[in-house]
Parts: sequence; C-alpha cells; structure tokens
Amino acid sequence: MALAALTACIPRSDRGRAPPRSAMPPAADRGSPDTLQCHIDLARERIRFRALPDQRFAGGCSALGAVQLTDMGIPVTGLRAMTCPTARQFARWARESVQPAADQWLRGRIVRIETFGTYACRTRNSRPGARLSEHAFANAVDVSAFVLADGRRVTVEHGWRGEDERVRRFLRQIHQGGCRRFSVGLSPDADANHYNHLHFDMGRSGPYCR
Ligand SMILES: [Zn+2]
Repeated sequence: MALAALTACIPRSDRGRAPPRSAMPPAADRGSPDTLQCHIDLARERIRFRALPDQRFAGGCSALGAVQLTDMGIPVTGLRAMTCPTARQFARWARESVQPAADQWLRGRIVRIETFGTYACRTRNSRPGARLSEHAFANAVDVSAFVLADGRRVTVEHGWRGEDERVRRFLRQIHQGGCRRFSVGLSPDADANHYNHLHFDMGRSGPYCR
C-alpha cells in the first residue's frame, strides 16, 4: 500500500481563536452522553459493535469513545477503532448510499467494502511536522474498493477515472453521499494522495467535499 495514500490534505479553514488541532480536546470519551446516545443509535439501527476502552497514546493520538463494528449488514475489511459517530455515519453511508448506488449503477449487491483502515497515529499525509490526521483520533476511514455478489471488484484507484461510465458515476455518487454524512469527504479529485481511496472524517475542518 502506498505510504502517501493515507490521509487528508485539507486546507485549514480559518477558525479564529481555535487552537491547533492537537491541542483541542478530542472526541467524547466512552462515558459521555454523546457516546452513549451513539451506542443507542447503533443498537436501534441493528448495527453490532463492541465498545472499546478509551486509549491515549504518545504524540497526542487517541481513540476515545471508540467502537469496533462487528456486523453492519455488509462485511467490511480493515476497520479498527472508530469514534462512535464516525462508525454510525459509516454504517449509514454503506446502507443508504453505497448499496442504493450499486443498485442504480452497477445492478448488483455489495458483498464487501474494503478499507485501508481507520485509526492510525500519524500526521496528515504522513508528512513530518504536519498536523495530526483525523486518523490519529480514530475519526476517519479510508475506503478503497467494493466487491459485488457476482464477483466484480470496483476500486477507487482504477474506477474513478476509468473507462466504465457507470462505475465512475457509482463512485461519484457515493462520494457525494459520504460528504453529506461526514464532515470531510476526499476523492482522487482532492489531491494526489487520494488517488486510490475515499477519505471520510468527522473532524472540525469541514464541511469540505472534493
Ligand atoms: Zn484518510
């Protein structure tokens, strides 16, 4: 996997008095009302998950109020810790955006979503000295491919600018669907680092969609 593939390069919006991201309090922790409400939402939507212990790491990285999704109806590879709101939006996106778009453009059922992962303690685009990525807070997911019931495999890398117009439309539609549910949605149109995946996160730099 390309090292450069892994995260968002987002122009930082002007936030006035806002301190640098790494100095901000991270996501709600495991016992917070927001996290508990999120657990209730997941259960109500029949999304199976395991609540993870809060973890804080060196360098300002953390996974607070995180869950491990265990069954959201469509198998997904590569998922690790995700903040509960990120997991909730991801599951909704898969059900309400990805599968309907696959019905419409690919005429097929999605049987697997492939990701490059969620939590990773690193800076944006893994550049030394850059600000921490939303991945460093378990607040982001990188989606790379989709497998259909008939065996077709659609990848962001080959499909986004590929020859098949229906695949291109499918990928653009689910990117837009992700932008509606997440704070930030990045595609291969965003920058060279995202040539092979869609990045979605629940960070404060959004709304941003490209
Ligand atoms: Zn990413």
